[in-house]
Amino acid sequence: MSALLDPSRLLWRNHGGLHLPEHKTLSNQRPTRPISASTCKELVVPLLQHAGMHPDILVKVGESVNKGQPLAKSQGYASLPIHASTSGLIRAIEKRPIPHPSGLEDTCIIIEPDGADHWGAHKLEPLPHYAELDGVTLRSRICFAGIVGLGGAVFPAAIKLNVRPKMPISTLIINGAECEPYITCDDLLMREKPEEIIAGAQVILHILLSHTPPEGQECLIGIEDNKPEAIQAMQAAVKASGDQRIHIVPIPTLYPSGGEKQLIKILTGREVASGSRPTDSGVICHNVATARAIYRAVVWGEPLISRYITVTGVGVAEAQNFEVPFGVPIRTLIEQAGGYTDKAERLIMGGPMMGISLANDSIPVVKASNCILVEQAANKPAAQPCIRCGACAAACPVTLLPQQLYWHARAKHFEEIEKYHLFDCIECGCCAYVCPSHLPLVDYYRFAKSEIRHQRQVQHKADVARERHEFRLERLERAKREKAEKLAKHKQALQNKSATKGDDAKQAAIQAALERAKAKKEKAQQTPLTPNEDKSA
Ligand code: SF4
Ligand code: SF4
Repeated sequence: MSALLDPSRLLWRNHGGLHLPEHKTLSNQRPTRPISASTCKELVVPLLQHAGMHPDILVKVGESVNKGQPLAKSQGYASLPIHASTSGLIRAIEKRPIPHPSGLEDTCIIIEPDGADHWGAHKLEPLPHYAELDGVTLRSRICFAGIVGLGGAVFPAAIKLNVRPKMPISTLIINGAECEPYITCDDLLMREKPEEIIAGAQVILHILLSHTPPEGQECLIGIEDNKPEAIQAMQAAVKASGDQRIHIVPIPTLYPSGGEKQLIKILTGREVASGSRPTDSGVICHNVATARAIYRAVVWGEPLISRYITVTGVGVAEAQNFEVPFGVPIRTLIEQAGGYTDKAERLIMGGPMMGISLANDSIPVVKASNCILVEQAANKPAAQPCIRCGACAAACPVTLLPQQLYWHARAKHFEEIEKYHLFDCIECGCCAYVCPSHLPLVDYYRFAKSEIRHQRQVQHKADVARERHEFRLERLERAKREKAEKLAKHKQALQNKSATKGDDAKQAAIQAALERAKAKKEKAQQTPLTPNEDKSA
């Protein structure tokens, strides 16, 4: 098959989905501008920027760091290092607000940029001849470079690439759908850096060689058809690469086609069953920005320290995309985008459907930040009771029953709600968007999920504490038993010893008595009889 667009390629349709106002032209008309770290007084780099465990801090306050220097190292399987986004001085290591709807604080490393943006010796060794290396070496490089899924999930990319041995992975999907309104960072990335994305896809295909030989591999790059410039640029890059395994596949614009399971279904017709992973269906899926980050980490030796991000909405003067080092405060981005307009009332990280509200603009850009949306406050009508119209079920792309989920979440029937596959909900917001009663359905699902996770954590802690207690009791019981057995043994040994001693003494006494009797008898025989004795005899 030609590496170019194949219009005859069969596509599959997902259930539900919505045609939403796109608002993409607000931000995709200007080229991406790089933001220099030296435009800020300080960079605030949160320690935890991936789905997993905190890494171990490696630096101290007052220490100078180079760009790309590890600030914290991985401390286990689901933990990733973080790196300095620029050179400078570590000013503080302290709790600061991180991008989270609750205004949550977490440990952050504060860097004062020195303006030199100097890599020093901390750039990793470039591996342009990566094809001579095995998958394990390349996965370890991807892990060391701190690469996460940049589509929003921030799951460690190296773990996602660690597929069970002998599992055939025939299809690599590169996700360029970018289906949520307003967001255009992937669109601009595909227009401006298509060669890097294709080169990243080739690195991933090489890692997957141990699962499928090259002649059995295909890479499908799914892009919604509302991005003609991106499709064209990516097609040109595929043609230039001459790689016959890679195909650009335009897909119909329909929210949320960019969901992982949704895109897999559209491109391959394969359903990823509830509770299973795409690799169980022979597919692995990465975002276009993740593919580019993998290329830069492997071929250039650069850890993940920046990303493309959209700044948009009616609340900013000049909506556009920036390439931003992690740790730059959102306030700086807004200033670079011409500042707030008089319509700026609400700050969202992400898009209008799945994004999270932010408390203020001092919060930094992190690996998960794909968009900053500045909007007017939503003037939502008050929620009314559910009228069981079924519109939510018709719109749900996962074929769930949103109204049932709502009833059970509201009634806190958490055992019951899991029977309705709550954790398959991708929180796309389609159900809430169409609900004529204006019910904040996704808020209910998020609440139920966090309650269930909390209950599981409490249960897990209780189980661990009970196991420890039972183990301690058993250990004490065993120690007591062993001590008693030892004592009994000792006593028996003593008894045996004294019994032996007693027997010897007795025997000796008998022997002595016998000897005395014998001596007496012998003496009596040797003594001559007197006349009287003789008579009487
Ligand atoms: S769309 Fe709203 S009102 Fe209709 S069934 Fe669903 S939750 Fe109820
Ligand atoms: S938010 Fe969940 S329940 Fe609602 S439409 Fe999306 S996947 Fe379905």
